[in-house]
Formats: sequence, structure tokens, C-alpha cells
Amino acid sequence: MSDLGTARRHRDGPNIGSNPAPEPRGSPVTQTLEPATEAAARRLDAVIIGAGVAGLYQLHQLRELGLDVLAVDAAGDVGGTWWWNTYPGARFDSEAYIYQYLFDEDLYKDWSWSQRFPGQEEIHRWMVYVADRLDLRRDISFSTYVTGAEWNDDTQRWTVRTDTGEVFDTQYFITCAGMLSAPLENMFEGQDTFDGPIFHTSRWPREHVDLDGKRVGVVGTGATGIQVIQTIADRVADLTVFVRTPQYALPMHNPAYDETDVTAYKDRFEELREKLPNTFTGFEYDFEHAWADLTPDERLARLEDIYANGSLKLWLASFAEIFFDADICEEVSEFVRQKMRDRLQDPELIDLLVPTDYGFGTHRVPLETNYLEVYRRENVHAVGVRDNPVVRIRSEGIELADGTVHELDVIILATGFDAGTGSLTRMDIRGRGGRSLTEDWGRDIRSMMGLAVHGYPNLLTTAVPLAPSAALCNMTTCLQQQTEWITGAIKHLQAQGKQVIEATAEGEEEWVLHHDETANATLISKTDSWYLGSNIEGKPRRVLSYTGGVGEYRRRTLAVAADGYPGFDIH
Ligand code: NAP
Repeated sequence: MSDLGTARRHRDGPNIGSNPAPEPRGSPVTQTLEPATEAAARRLDAVIIGAGVAGLYQLHQLRELGLDVLAVDAAGDVGGTWWWNTYPGARFDSEAYIYQYLFDEDLYKDWSWSQRFPGQEEIHRWMVYVADRLDLRRDISFSTYVTGAEWNDDTQRWTVRTDTGEVFDTQYFITCAGMLSAPLENMFEGQDTFDGPIFHTSRWPREHVDLDGKRVGVVGTGATGIQVIQTIADRVADLTVFVRTPQYALPMHNPAYDETDVTAYKDRFEELREKLPNTFTGFEYDFEHAWADLTPDERLARLEDIYANGSLKLWLASFAEIFFDADICEEVSEFVRQKMRDRLQDPELIDLLVPTDYGFGTHRVPLETNYLEVYRRENVHAVGVRDNPVVRIRSEGIELADGTVHELDVIILATGFDAGTGSLTRMDIRGRGGRSLTEDWGRDIRSMMGLAVHGYPNLLTTAVPLAPSAALCNMTTCLQQQTEWITGAIKHLQAQGKQVIEATAEGEEEWVLHHDETANATLISKTDSWYLGSNIEGKPRRVLSYTGGVGEYRRRTLAVAADGYPGFDIH
């Protein structure tokens, strides 16, 4: 489901393998911009941050429009999230055939997937295929991190700066930086004292990491931690998992595809192109039954049937009521808990690994393969750290509040991201009158449909808060729609002979109110997780993702375009 877009430049740091140098925990890294010299700046129509799913397609569209455009990415190649996340076990949990571009039938059909949920390496190959096919690389600057950008009120253009010293003078500044690309790496006191390597999952070294026979500790049991744990358990000598909040785990059914399967999904290209943008989460499946219309036996039969499907369908397309009705959510939660208990068997493991204090679907639901069974291995130890938290990292391992030290050779931090905002607030983006996006979003996270921010003219955004692409979507569906909307807006300006588009304060306020009203009706808004920004101390609370549905979001954003962009000032 996820796309983590582009991210920070890959630098070596002390004691964390080839990870970037640690950054202050949860706090933005900003740099003061020097004034641009006209002579040094390369003049462009558009600069795009990112060469992942959104950035590649945005680049293609703007080039087709005849714009002089450059994409800039901190990664060493195309792929965004699928370039950065090379940790053991990284794979899709969207069905591969829905995680493709649908704008070009040949581009879609000339690529064949080997299985329903392929791994990172195959996904990255697909992105390379797209970039080559569309000849995108010649307009991408890799290994280049945008450190900041400033809007110039006089020229009505952006100055964009990079850590390689390049300066761009551009009319449009478009962010395709991903919603999960600012990793939380510097989590614990004493990280630099550890004798072995510490890896954050999204900064996994590109060279081979030998975990065989090592004592490995994993902190974090979100979707990423789960993939790592189930993958490395039988390779390492000893695996210690530090569990703070367990997840509702759903088994993945991941068959290999033969030629018949591939032909069958390719034959449905038109159907998928029509359907995906209009469902609740941009997946193929959608809600089919209302809870109240079924008897208890029928509900159970339906839950069993969908559970056996081995996908995110149980979460995203079983019963819409799980997002709004605490009693119904509890019934479905109990259904999943019982499945987990049956698999775990051991009462201590059940106690540690079966969630009880939040409802199914209010956190991002992970798919897994034998994740729970892994804890029954002799070399795997689950350590509860909710009441006895990790306090520091020492030279020999991880120390907990009660003084226990777990001795380790390697530490893996699957500790997540500053989601939605971090990719942009870690840069220094300055809008009208020098206002800072880091400061604005540090007070209150606002946007106009996740596509623009008041005070930041000609800054057009994807995968930022207040759109489904911030968290609750099959990312390719949502990112295609957002980049197409941005291209449409630029086309509109061109046709009207205008230079500038900016969300008005009133337009943005109206969207924020609609977003909040929709979000606050859900149980997600009542549950701590990165969906609410609560994994970062001091981050303003707001449900990051638009929860009105992907189809509804599309309808609303297209209506704005069709009506001549009310809520935007165009001049
Ligand atoms: P995450 O869901 O934010 O999980 C972070 C984990 O680290 C949580 O278990 C958290 O515990 C734990 N943690 C953080 N600080 C800790 C501390 N001080 N002590 C102990 N535990 C600590 O991050 P993620 O697993 O990287 O996943 C992020 C998102 O990436 C997913 O939700 C998903 O959208 C995406 N993703 C997608 C795929 C895919 O599509 N296939 C795969 C992986 C990830 P608490 O919950 O208690 O804070």
C-alpha cells in the first residue's frame, strides 16, 4: 500500500553502518538560505522533488506539456520508497497489478508480475522499466537532496537549492517526496556508543549485510518490523524483538503467477482503470454489505471468507462500519484476535502480541507470513517494552528501564517515520513574505486538498496531509490522480495566460473543516498512531489522511478544476 517517495541523502554516520548521520529526534533539520545569485541559478519551468511513483509520472506529464522540467532525488536511482527500503522482507501489500500506472495500456501490459505481492527487488525493476520506457532519467538529478526553497514575491518564482550546490530558478515547485520518507532514526540515548551497526530499515545499506549467526535486536513491530522479523528469524543466531504496541496481523496469501494469471489480470486493464480511482481506498475491492443487513452467522461467514483471501480486504473492504462504530469494530477485532490466539497458543505470547487496547483497522494493518509462528522458535524472544521501556543503547546492547541489558551484535530500528509532513519540514521551504513551512506545519498541519498550501504560491504537493495519499490509499492510484490534477491546473494557467496559483485562506479553511469533520467521525481520530502524528512528540494532532474516500476525493478535486478553481487565487 505504501509509497515512501524520495528521502534524505545517503550519508555515512558513526556506528550506524551506511545510514545517514542521525538527526535530532522528531525535530526538523533546517538550513538558512543564502540569497540566490541570478547568474548561478538554472532557469526551469518546474522542479519536482522525487523520482518515485509520483515524481516519475509528474515528470513525464510536464515534459509532454512542453515544460522545461527537472526532477531531483536524494536516492541513487529511480524508485522512491522502493529504492530506499531494501531491508530484508520488504514487499508489496497492494496487489501488484493494481500498483501500476494506468495511463498507458502498453506500459501496463508489457510488464508482467511474478506473484501477487512481489518483493522490493522486483518492484524496483518495474520502476526502472517505467523510467527507461519513458526515457525519464535524462531529466532527473540523482543523489541530490533539496535543502530548501524560497518564493520570491518580486519575480513570482521559486529559488530551489540542493546539497550539491545547485540553484534552480523555477516557476513551479512540485513535491513528490512521499509520505513516509523522513525516518525516525536517532531514537535513543547512546546510539553512538553501540559496538555494532544500527540500521534504520529505510536506510538499509546497499551492500550485503551479514546477519547470519548474529544476535540481532529489532525495535518496532509495525508493518516494516513485521516483515523484517519474519524474514530474518531463521538466519540469525538470536532475535530479540522489543514489542511496545502489537498489531492485528493478517496472513498474506501470495501465490506465484503463471502465464494464465498474468493474462487474466491484463485482460482486466480497462475494468481496473475505471474502478480503482473510484473505490474507498483506491484498491480493487470495495465494501459490498452493510453490517446491519446480515445475520451474525452471515457476518461471520463473510469475515471468514475475506480473511481467507489473504489481503488487506478484511480491513479496507469488509464492513465500512469498523471505521465508525466502536461496537462493530470490537466484534471484528475479536474475530482477528481469536485467529491470532489460535496461531500463537502460548499465553505469554498472546499477552504480548495480541492487541487489546485499540480496534482493528484504526492502525495501519500489516500483512504477514508466519510472523506469529516465528515467536515459537527457540532463538526468538519477544520482550515487552510498554511498561519497561528502552532507556538507552550501550556499547553491548539495549538497556531497559529496569536495568536489564540485552546483549546484541546488530540493532535494527523499525521505528517508522515523521509521516506526511517530515519530508518537507526537514527542508527549509519559505513561502510568501519568508514564512516557513516548517514553522507553519509545526503549529498546525493544513493544506488545500493536499495539493497546495496557502502562503506558498506555485508550490504543488502530492502525498501530504489532508488527501487520501497521505496514508489511506493504494498509493499508485492516488498519486496518479494527484499528479494529473496538478498537470491539469498548470494547463489551465497556460491556457489563461496566468503565472501563479495559490490556495486562498478561505479555500484552505473550508477544506480543513471538511477534512476534520470527516476524519473526526472515524475511530482513527481516537487512536494513537502515526496516522494522527502521535508517534512524534510535539507534532500537531490531525488525522493525516483524508478519510472521505478516494473516489469522493477525486470527485471533489475534479469538481474544483471543472468549476474554474474556486478556493484558489490565480493570476
Ligand atoms: P510504524 O508503523 O510507525 O511502526 C514503528 C514501530 O516502532 C511501532 O511498533 C512503534 O511502537 C515502534 N517504536 C517507535 N519508537 C519506539 C520506542 N521508543 N520503543 C519501542 N518501540 C518503538 O513504522 P513502519 O513499521 O515503518 O511502518 C510505517 C508505514 O510504512 C506502515 O504503516 C505502512 O504504511 C508503510 N509500510 C508499507 C509496507 C508495504 O506496503 N508493504 C511495508 C512496510 C511499511 P508504538 O506503536 O508503540 O509507537
